[in-house]
Amino acid sequence: MTALPQHGQNASAVLAELRQRRAADLPTHGGRTLAYVYDSGLAEIDELAAAAHASAASANGLDPTAFPSLAAMENDLVAAAAGLLGGTPSTVGSVTSGGTESCLLAVLAARNSRPELDRPAMVLPATAHAAFHKAAHYFGVRVITVPVDPRTFRADSAAMAAAIDADTVLVVASAPSYAHGVVDPIAPIAAAAAQRGVRMHVDACIGGWVLPYLRRLGAGVPDFGFGVEGVTSISVDLHKYAYCPKGVSVLLHADAGLRRSQYFASADWPGYTMLNTTLQSTRSGGPLAAAWAVLRNVGDDGYLSLAERTATATAVIRDGIGQVPGLRILGDPDATLLAVTAAEDAGFDLFTVADEMRTRGWYVQPQFAHAASPVNLHLTVTAANRGNEQRFLDDLRDAVGAARSRGPVTVDDELVALLAELDPEQLTGEQFATLLAGAGLGAGGGLPERMAEINALLEAAPAALRERLLLEFLGLLYRPEA
Ligand SMILES: *Cc1c(COP(=O)(O)O)cnc(C)c1O
Repeated sequence: MTALPQHGQNASAVLAELRQRRAADLPTHGGRTLAYVYDSGLAEIDELAAAAHASAASANGLDPTAFPSLAAMENDLVAAAAGLLGGTPSTVGSVTSGGTESCLLAVLAARNSRPELDRPAMVLPATAHAAFHKAAHYFGVRVITVPVDPRTFRADSAAMAAAIDADTVLVVASAPSYAHGVVDPIAPIAAAAAQRGVRMHVDACIGGWVLPYLRRLGAGVPDFGFGVEGVTSISVDLHKYAYCPKGVSVLLHADAGLRRSQYFASADWPGYTMLNTTLQSTRSGGPLAAAWAVLRNVGDDGYLSLAERTATATAVIRDGIGQVPGLRILGDPDATLLAVTAAEDAGFDLFTVADEMRTRGWYVQPQFAHAASPVNLHLTVTAANRGNEQRFLDDLRDAVGAARSRGPVTVDDELVALLAELDPEQLTGEQFATLLAGAGLGAGGGLPERMAEINALLEAAPAALRERLLLEFLGLLYRPEA
């Protein structure tokens, strides 16, 4: 643990240490990290964003009358998002800290608009982002999960419609889903919601800033914006395909009446009347100003060409993966996300492929099996991948070969049986620590070089146990002495 130094250190030493620590992280640029980060490949954007971020980082969005520039920039970002997503003169919105906050607020606004309901519920396709399960957990909304088509992974609009009942406060669909990158049938789902007088949220967190451009470039993606009858709110993350620094998303509502129940006020204390548009109260102006600067600098034509580069990279990578024996793409992705799985009899382990890619300098994100979706590797393709596709494909082919020679990863049968028996609610923190240590995730030890064995074990664990194990792991990671 490094506590507060007794004497302040000089700035250059502090920055040097920071740089040294950051060197251990995955790279955020160059297209080698195919999850979590988004790289436009345009270096000047980063410098501009950093300068804009610094200029407003200490300003506080808590009070828009004290910092009117932040309110004005927020209105500009909302207007830009509305312009892309079929907004009308009635469209309003809020800038939030990220996609999860936008989704949380969409659920909160829907729930709070129906205070008469004792057991409010929302209807989700099984592929909806986990942010909605978090919203359910935070705000006491029941989740009605509707299975998706087992082959296309698209929401089943008839089944979604049938799941709406008198307790439903919100229906959700994705454009596209994170896991498979496919766009749900928004129009029939929104129509069914509208017919029952229920709100409909389109989660375009990841697709909202790229799909409209792909449509303009001729992709056959149906409309998913406010032009679709019945859509009442849309989330879009600027820190994804708008290539802004982390900490910015927009939640749009079709009109101000729909947004009102998202707002919060409290005058019931001796301080300032707390007036909040989002979950945060004090809100840094940094991410907002950075996003505002990036949007102005890139402009509509800039995003069109970034989308074109990204789409080309996605197509090249997708075709190339189709030519690697044993690999295939799940579903028929509509956007710039790919889920790569292995044929049943492929003779290699996908988690090992992920490890082998890591040793070749690429991060691909393992996704566990869920319902009809088998274990797969998620790729978020960005503009920075354009031009380097072949290098990625060559390494992927190599990684598969290496995984083939390493052979299958097996989890001990007895351990699998034990995992199936364990009740995550009954286990103590100590028992979890023992289990984690057995899995190679002990306290303070950091992550092992190869994750395949751990992933195989986690894959074998029932979902609730996997959640608990990883939460205990998180609890060990966040210790001052770690
Ligand atoms: C990324 C994402 C979210 C959550 O966004 P965060 O910015 O990670 O909080 C929600 N929905 C979808 C579809 C996403 O891709």
